[in-house]
Amino acid sequence: MDLTTPIESLPLVGPAYTKKLSKLNIKTFEDLLYHFPFRYVDYSLISPIGRIQAGEIVSIQGKIISIKNEYTRQGKKIQKAVVADASGEIQAVWFNQPFLVKIIIPGQTIGLSGKADWFGPNLVLVSPEYEIIKEGLREKKETVHTGRLVPIYHETYSLSSKWLRSRIAPLMKKFVPGLKEFLPVKISKKYKLVKFNQALQKIHFPANQKEAQEARKRFAFEEFFLLQLAALQRKKAWQKYQLAYKFYLDQEKILEFTNSLPFTLTQAQKKAFREIFTDLEKDKPMNRLLEGDVGSGKTVVAAAAIYLAFLNKNQAALMAPTQILANQHYQTLSQILSPLGVKVALLTASQKKTVGNFDCLIGTHALIYQRAQFKQLGLVVIDEQHRFGVEQRGKLIKKNKVPHLLTMTATPIPRTVALTLYGDLDLSVLDEMPPGRQKIKTWVVPPYKRAAAYQWLREQIKDKEDQAFIVCPLIEESAHETMQSVKAVTSEKERLAKEVFPDLRIGLLHGRLKSKEKDKVFEKFRQGKIDILVSTPVVEVGIDIPTAIIMLVEAAERFGLAQLHQLRGRVGRSGQQAYCLLFSATPSEKSLKRLKALERITTGSELAEIDLKLRGPGEIYGTQQHGFFNLRVASFSDLKMIKETRQAAEKIIKEIKYYPSLQARLKKDTIKAVEPN
Ligand code: ADP
Ligand code: MG
Repeated sequence: MDLTTPIESLPLVGPAYTKKLSKLNIKTFEDLLYHFPFRYVDYSLISPIGRIQAGEIVSIQGKIISIKNEYTRQGKKIQKAVVADASGEIQAVWFNQPFLVKIIIPGQTIGLSGKADWFGPNLVLVSPEYEIIKEGLREKKETVHTGRLVPIYHETYSLSSKWLRSRIAPLMKKFVPGLKEFLPVKISKKYKLVKFNQALQKIHFPANQKEAQEARKRFAFEEFFLLQLAALQRKKAWQKYQLAYKFYLDQEKILEFTNSLPFTLTQAQKKAFREIFTDLEKDKPMNRLLEGDVGSGKTVVAAAAIYLAFLNKNQAALMAPTQILANQHYQTLSQILSPLGVKVALLTASQKKTVGNFDCLIGTHALIYQRAQFKQLGLVVIDEQHRFGVEQRGKLIKKNKVPHLLTMTATPIPRTVALTLYGDLDLSVLDEMPPGRQKIKTWVVPPYKRAAAYQWLREQIKDKEDQAFIVCPLIEESAHETMQSVKAVTSEKERLAKEVFPDLRIGLLHGRLKSKEKDKVFEKFRQGKIDILVSTPVVEVGIDIPTAIIMLVEAAERFGLAQLHQLRGRVGRSGQQAYCLLFSATPSEKSLKRLKALERITTGSELAEIDLKLRGPGEIYGTQQHGFFNLRVASFSDLKMIKETRQAAEKIIKEIKYYPSLQARLKKDTIKAVEPN
């Protein structure tokens, strides 16, 4: 038996439960032990029965005197037991659990925890947690469900806390104590971390809150530490590769390039230019992340890098997450680069295999499997990096050589998060918008103003060139669009077309459409033949429809703030006044307050920080990228710990070969954490 032992070898875990557990991603002993409680109920106060007061939450331990089923007048069964200790006796009452008379046998010792209250004329324990206490197990700290801090787990897939506790507790006796620490001693000493086996004991069955906290601290440290180590390891690995082709910087030509642009670069763009050119001149492969809000002007930065590749007689690849975006990049980059002599080409899914002669080839992420297209690949640009994983990056390696790599994202990743998860990448941030952009007027619309909002929307776009998006959320908490979501958005489109806007032309877009059809819909929208485009959030992040001025989002509370910000970034792209309307299906005060932040705040990273505090990192990106990274116990708002773990990781990575068990840990854990699904 070790941590990798499959969960079905536990007693009392049959195929049905194995299946339920696997839905929670619990497949091994380790997974089960790392399924931590999210809180504890304090049943640790064990009182003498004679002193119990009404209204108290108490625990008792005593002998079972009697138990029976009784029928109420409504024909329901209630179970009544009498339990006694030296100080007195008390009744316990349960409802509709007739099987209890078979479990709770007079003469046995029992632990009960719950609320004492009046039941008719009697002071009783109402539906208490119960636990038979076997001889020799009388010490209260050895109980599992009563008389202690009792762990509570998230109850999903009908796995109750009690069930989980009953399966985890036996592991604590024989199995957990034998588990070896895998963190380096000097690290656990320096940061005063509880040992691995003790921490497992304490996080599930703490003697007191302090123990639980100590255990959480250890696991939070461990989590960040492993993530940072993994990032540093990836960095080390990347730097070990040789650069495919070295670039030389031609200052004059670059100046010509900037002068050829129809606008002056923002300060942020200039800084990113410098950082990237500095990288590109080195004889080490670049691995840089360019982060900037929608509309901050990342494309021209990429174009500059591509141009430098061209000047060096190298080819460049640009990969976009979808075909539509690839098409758009193709148009933009052709505009910027063709006059300078760069041959820009587009690879579409339907296209025959070889593209032929080009300097820059644009396509979807599938381009990575088309290495044969390239003769001399010197630079790879990846748009929207979070869908592009470490593994795919590995595909760029050829004979131990790699091209320069630039990844771009509009997802506002707070610096702390970037440092932890993408510590292997150097970071450039476009934190400034090109001048002349108007703030997108944003309103959270209460349900009773829905009709008025529709009327207003009609007035804005009817008989004008202007257009609107209406975005419906995905129904499931899933990264992918399912049929259910497609149906929902389809029927919403029907409703809008028939009942609300019969006078307007309504289009429909979702991920299940064939890419040809998608292109068609987009083309129609672009040409102004559609007034309102109803879609799922799968609509491409960077999409550019200059005449779209309104973004209406349904059930906005289900999105992350940063994601909503990205959505509204799709309107007003040619400088006109644009609007964002946020509808909320279940407007709780808390969620309204959260959404209201969008009325004031205009930068994505600030909104991401707010969600980081309010909802945790898993929620920043909303349902679309749900589970993008799920921390178990650590928190991205714990700057101190991020810094400490970073320091620790930098120290240990140099001598990692002396810590085989840590290395083993690193191999399986970390990538999973960064890229679930
Ligand atoms: P994103 O960062 O979302 O990819 P884009 O690169 O598509 O943004 O740029 C958005 C728009 O802003 C484009 O129309 C682009 O031509 C324009 N733009 C980019 N940089 C500047 C600038 N410095 N001044 C004015 N407009 C700019
Ligand atoms: Mg873009």
